[in-house]
Amino acid sequence: MVQTTSSSTLLPKDVRRVYANVLKFNDHHRLTTYNITNRCNLRCEGCFFYEGDKMSSLRDDRTVDQWRDFFAREKARGIVVCDIAGGEPALNRDRLRLAAEYFEHGIIYSNGIIPIPPDIRFKIHVSLWGDEASDLDVRGAPILRKAIENYRNDPRAVVVYTFNHFNIEHVFDVAQQVHDAGIQLSFNHFSATEQYNAKLSGVVEAKRSKTFKISTPEDNLRLTPEDLIRVRDVCSELMLRYPQTVVYSETINEAVNRPEGVFTVDPQTGEAIDCWSLNAKQNDGGYRNYQTDFSVGRCCLPNTDCSECRVYVVMYGKLIFGTQQALLKDGRLLTQDERAAREALRDPEELVRWLDVVDTWLALSVVGYERQRIYFRKGHEPKSIGSVEQGKPFDEEQREIA
Ligand code: SF4
Ligand code: SF4
Repeated sequence: MVQTTSSSTLLPKDVRRVYANVLKFNDHHRLTTYNITNRCNLRCEGCFFYEGDKMSSLRDDRTVDQWRDFFAREKARGIVVCDIAGGEPALNRDRLRLAAEYFEHGIIYSNGIIPIPPDIRFKIHVSLWGDEASDLDVRGAPILRKAIENYRNDPRAVVVYTFNHFNIEHVFDVAQQVHDAGIQLSFNHFSATEQYNAKLSGVVEAKRSKTFKISTPEDNLRLTPEDLIRVRDVCSELMLRYPQTVVYSETINEAVNRPEGVFTVDPQTGEAIDCWSLNAKQNDGGYRNYQTDFSVGRCCLPNTDCSECRVYVVMYGKLIFGTQQALLKDGRLLTQDERAAREALRDPEELVRWLDVVDTWLALSVVGYERQRIYFRKGHEPKSIGSVEQGKPFDEEQREIA
């Protein structure tokens, strides 16, 4: 654990507090993704898992004992946080329980239909793609009511609303219902797979299937540039309207909604050259993406088209690890010596933005972590002035370094 000092007064109190909070967790936050099943009880339009064959075609026949040995080895490798995906992980409780035995923290990505037992103390990200009617159209089942029934007032749960071209305005109604049910809310963007795009552009035959039922070249789930601007504004508005319910970062909101895209794609390979998930293998920072057969995948979303990838987990990784390099010394985060942090970054606002992203990510990935917002979009600051917890805007004067 990093030792902190309290001697410096270079950064404002609120920032120092968030920095100290982040330090407590960050060095201890080695994460890896495990796709624990290739089964799912839904077939959503354009699904990242089934609309393409790089995940669902892999074997899924490992025994409970093999999973136990595997998780034990992963723990011995230093992994503390498991990122559990599928398919639908709730379909395999045995593997979830094993993960809970071996890892201190975890995130389970679920569609929310099958409840995850309360003894599994990981964060549960419940994906919603709209209100009941649009979920029925696009995912084949009305999910909202079921998700609320399963996770009302559950501190593990975060509803992750995935924006697509059809559902942007539905989020207001969903946000109100989720807020009333005492569940946290965050956001994601539909990100097309290579196969989905190839069907839309006619590169491959657009045969109808369970994950390509309704999309056409003219009318599909991809977000247009105008959609992205609207999504950014809607997210800011909801962050303001429900400050305790919405767990989202304004830094992410600005970065992910750039119409020109998020990643720099190599035209030869079609792969993102600046994606931490893709490069994790080379860097060996500990992160890996394990598939159901225990092989390591290209990245956490191997079917996805890098040029359109806006998946939230990848965005958090990009913004956290991109800036974190400047805050590392001997592989560890700098201590709470804000002068060192400031010099490392040169731009204090960059530090504030980085903290905003890490702080939000920790709130999304650690049960009980208390987020303290310090960064607001200009013109979207809360009106109430008080402590950070009450939504105090981090104004220019406060940001000034003595
Ligand atoms: S998007 Fe998720 S819930 Fe929907 S079919 Fe794919 S894996 Fe299942
Ligand atoms: S996670 Fe990275 S490599 Fe994978 S699709 Fe997204 S941008 Fe591309």
